[in-house]
Amino acid sequence: MTDVLAPGSVIGIIGGGQLGRMTALAAARLGYRCHIYTPEENSPASQVSEKTTVASYEDENALAEFAAAVDVITYEFENIPVDTVQRLSKLAPVRPRPSVLAVSQHRVAEKDFARDSGAGTALYQGVTDLDQLRNAVSEIGRPAVLKTCRFGYDGKGQVKITAETDLAAAWASLKTDDAVLEGFVSFEKEVSVIVARGVDGTALAFPVAENHHVDHILSTSTVPANIPEATEKAARATAVALAERLELVGLLAVEMFVTEEGDVLVNEVAPRPHNSGHWTQDGCATCQFEQLVRAVTGLPLGPVDVLFPTVMQNLIGDKADQWLDIAAEPHAKLHLYGKTEARPGRKMGHVNRIKVS
Ligand code: AMP
Repeated sequence: MTDVLAPGSVIGIIGGGQLGRMTALAAARLGYRCHIYTPEENSPASQVSEKTTVASYEDENALAEFAAAVDVITYEFENIPVDTVQRLSKLAPVRPRPSVLAVSQHRVAEKDFARDSGAGTALYQGVTDLDQLRNAVSEIGRPAVLKTCRFGYDGKGQVKITAETDLAAAWASLKTDDAVLEGFVSFEKEVSVIVARGVDGTALAFPVAENHHVDHILSTSTVPANIPEATEKAARATAVALAERLELVGLLAVEMFVTEEGDVLVNEVAPRPHNSGHWTQDGCATCQFEQLVRAVTGLPLGPVDVLFPTVMQNLIGDKADQWLDIAAEPHAKLHLYGKTEARPGRKMGHVNRIKVS
């Protein structure tokens, strides 16, 4: 049991957003203490944690002090410089390890990795200039989707290539020389699976969530997903295979398309808790945040049975103003992130509506 961190140990979390906040709350429930590292003042995670370091990801002194003050380090978003995490990993255990982060930060690396693990993906080709884009479009065909390899999120940094699209204009609009062209998947559903893997190598995938996006932002996740049992099994097995190949310790969220033929194609991976896993807080035997804490501290993973069919709805922008109505709804579990300013598109909270039979 030498690998197990006892309650009272300190979990360092890089990033101060709502995912860090909910991880810290789950950690506190198990008796762990959290230390947040974020460049942001008054972050959602720091509001509920014992300590926060507010410093840039390049501040070597602050990083060294942070590493010395914690027993294990994890992260709550993936756009942290890999150098930062590599530096930290020489000073304290970082879970998931830095190479996992590197794969998730680059769309071609991510797809190569998925393919090497035996998972299906859309057709894709790395593109670094307009000539390569023209070649890729002639090979992959239209429609297709051109995406920046790094820092894309919520549909930002991508453009659809249709029969009418002028390729030079599309290429210029992306403002990058590191992109990927993907064949357009006429998917039937978008789903995701969150898989946890512990220090001892045990991997466990949560049930599949069926995701619905509005304006490229996740709007709802529904569990159980309305998919055949074989598809559910295939999606979970794919997530476990990816986690094993990465030698993950922590969580991996895997976003996938289910095609009309029932195939499961991996779109994106993120080595952290995920918005589509929030349903687990109220609908599952173990929530994703507790599972992350269990994985990185060396505790055994918790069971992932669905306790209640659940629909998670994001409260985006002024939707969160409905907090009082939601609080009055039976079986609606309200989660707010402590953000003061409700900008359009900003995730302010979510509600889990559980079905109690
Ligand atoms: P992403 O940033 O890769 O998660 O893409 C954002 C959204 O764009 C996805 O949730 C899909 O709805 C859509 N999308 C991304 N890639 C493709 C694709 N290759 N084919 C069809 N739709 C896509």
